Parts: sequence; structure tokens; C-alpha cells
Amino acid sequence: MIPLGEAQRFVLELCAPLPPRSVPVQEALGCVMSTDVVATEPVPSFANSSMDGFAVRADDTAGAPVDLQVIGAVMAGHVLEATVGPGQAVRIMTGAPLPAGADAVCMIEETSTDESGGTVTIQRQLRPGNFVRQPGRDVAVGDVVAPAGTLLTPAHLGVLANQGVGRVLTYSRPKVGVLSTGDELFSGSGPLPPGKIRDANRPTLLALCRREGWDCVDLGVVGDDEATLVEVLLRGAATCDAILTSGGVSVGDLDLVRVVLEKLSGGTMRWMQVAIRPAKPFAFGILASSGTPVFGLPGNPVSAMVSFELFVRPAIRALSGHRSLHRPVVRASTAHPLERQRDGKLHLLRARVNVDDHGDWRVSTTDGQESHQLRSMAEANALILLPDGLGVPELGDVRVLLLDADSLDEGGGTIDDRLSTENS
Ligand code: AMP
Ligand code: MG
Repeated sequence: MIPLGEAQRFVLELCAPLPPRSVPVQEALGCVMSTDVVATEPVPSFANSSMDGFAVRADDTAGAPVDLQVIGAVMAGHVLEATVGPGQAVRIMTGAPLPAGADAVCMIEETSTDESGGTVTIQRQLRPGNFVRQPGRDVAVGDVVAPAGTLLTPAHLGVLANQGVGRVLTYSRPKVGVLSTGDELFSGSGPLPPGKIRDANRPTLLALCRREGWDCVDLGVVGDDEATLVEVLLRGAATCDAILTSGGVSVGDLDLVRVVLEKLSGGTMRWMQVAIRPAKPFAFGILASSGTPVFGLPGNPVSAMVSFELFVRPAIRALSGHRSLHRPVVRASTAHPLERQRDGKLHLLRARVNVDDHGDWRVSTTDGQESHQLRSMAEANALILLPDGLGVPELGDVRVLLLDADSLDEGGGTIDDRLSTENS
């Protein structure tokens, strides 16, 4: 057996980022920048009001309350060709350009106007700059707004839109092919024929890929037949940046993925017994004809998923140019004892983790920890990393790999409810 870290490093060393390409900004969500974007426009591009109110000269408000003469009004999107002189004010809306001569805004709530609207009383003294958004205070010309390596989020798309950027250079979004192997797999509808099982891995793995934002190709089910497996792998390699197989990497008679991968990878394939449970067997190689990485995941559904999390996800994130490859690991205390025997392996236990009202992470295992028991994976949002040894007692300290932060139980209620619980 080899340590998990060694297996992960072996894979990552062979996964360099895919070539960059130019994509429209609106299609770049989730892509990783391959070059810097430098701001060419200041944001805001002109001084404007952050409030509905009156644009004034701050000096005029020294003896507030003061009466000022209203010489006009300016709405967002328009420019007022007038200069605010001493003793004068301009009615202004949020986002409207500050007229010449004015250097501050008094919010409407702190003013009153006479019936004609010709005079405004400013209730309080202002300092220059009050309620004015100065040019370049969000982004200055020359700022790097999206450095190479940035994972583009919705906010980045807005920041790029603010620059009038239409296209960006990002690492390509990977296209991942997924196939299942095994004579026992039945993919039709209707009752299962004797001895057959339904294919759980392909839908699961395709969905894991989709959730990562990768393009995926369903390469179907392949029986335990060497020639067909070769044909499907090569067909997949013609369009995909990476291929995931499941099954056929153990030590059984018909474990053909290992055999075929050995041949197609020019002997560079590595078949590993990783010191983890589940997901011990794993094969990884690069197809000699196309350079396509192939991940030979174990057949048991939970093993396939765990192997995906530990090997496939970090590696394909590397292909996508990500700098942060691995899932976050947090410290949590266990709701119950975790027993285990020494076997030289890191155990990854399916679990639910949550943050309690005090901000502490609590974790408990989900039922059924055998590698064919997929339902307990469906109930899990994390994997407890239980090192070799004899386990930990109740309330013991463990490390937990977060699989799905979206499925943390938030306890219900509004943010206000939650804040009042924490304060009480
Ligand atoms: P293998 O490594 O091919 O011997 O498969 C290990 C175990 O996983 C066997 O019990 C297989 O029947 C099962 N298995 C393999 N592929 C799948 C699949 N696509 N869906 C569900 N179970 C599978
Ligand atoms: Mg098999």
C-alpha cells in the first residue's frame, strides 16, 4: 500500500492546466483566469451622489441650519450644465453626477424645502466629500481586478462588466467522459435480470462532474471485454480532456481496466493500492495516443465517489487552472465514539457535520459504512478522516473533509433569529 499523499501527488504531477482560450465574460463563470485583467477605467468614473438629497458646497453649511437657493435638479444618467455657487444647492438623486462647484451632498431626510421648492434648508453641517462617491474609489486605473489564477465568481463578472470587458482569457473548461464497466451492469428499464445490478456509478460521477461545472460526456456502459473497452476509451479520448472509468481495477479475473490502461498508456499507468478505506484500488494513466488522463476508479459506488473526491476533483481542478485544489478540512468534535482497528489505512467515514449555535463543528457518522452502501453517502455532507489507530472517544477531536457546504443544516429561521440566539 502507498500513502494517500503519494498517490495524489503522482496524479497531480501529470495534470497541467489545459490551454487558455478566449471566452465571452458571460460564459466565464467558474472558469479560471489565465492572464491578469488590468483596469483601464476608474470606477466610479465620475463623482456622484450616494444619496437622494441636495448637492451643496460644504463651507456653506458651517452655520447649519442654513437656507440655500435651489438652482436645478439632476437625475442619474443626466448631467446638469450648471455650477453651484456660494449659497446655492442642486436637487440630486443617487448615482447622479455631482454638479460643478458642489463638494458634498445632504441627504433628503436632513433637509426641508419651502413650498415653491426654490429654497432648501440644510439641517446639518457637512464636510467636503460627505455622501459623494469619488471617482476610482472602487477601482482605480491600473488596478489588477482579476489576476491570473482567479476563479471567476458572479462578483468578478460584474467587476469585468464595469470595465467594459467583453471577453477574457481563461483556462478551458474541461470536458470529462464517464463510463462504467462490468458484465453485471444492466442499463435497461424494467425488472433486473438475475445476477445483474443497476449502474449507480455513471449517474453519480456524471452529476459530480456537472456540479463542478465541467462539461461531461456519457460514454455508457462497457462489459468486461477488452476490445470494446479499448474502442470506447479511444473514442472518448477523441473529444474529452479526461476520462473516468469505474470498476475493473481490483485483483479479480475480469479487472480489465487495469489491463487495458496498462497497454494504452505505454506502460506509464500506475495501479495503486492506496492506504485508505474505502477506495483502496485506483489506477491512473495517460493515454499514449492522445495524452488524455484516465482515472480508473473502483467499482463499489462509495469507493468510486471517495476516489473522485480524493483524486479526480483535485486533478481536474488542476487541468482547469485552479490554484486551490482540495476540499476544505475542518476540526470537529464527534457526537459519539468512533471505533476502529489498526490496519495501516486512513479511514474515511461518511458523516454529517454541522455548526452549532456556538460556532463549533459537530459530526456524526451516517448509517452503513460498507463501500457498497451508497445511501449513507447520500445522507452525508462530509468525510471524517480517521487516522490509523483505535479510534476516538465521544466528543473526540477529528478532522473532517467538507463535501458539500450547501447541505450544512442551517438550523432554520432568519439571520435575525440566528443573531439573537448567538447574543442570548
Ligand atoms: P469491480 O472492481 O469491477 O470488481 O467492482 C467492485 C464492486 O462494485 C462489484 O460488486 C461491482 O458489481 C460493483 N460495481 C461495479 N460497477 C458498478 C456500477 N457502475 N454501479 C454499481 N455497482 C458497481
Ligand atoms: Mg467489474
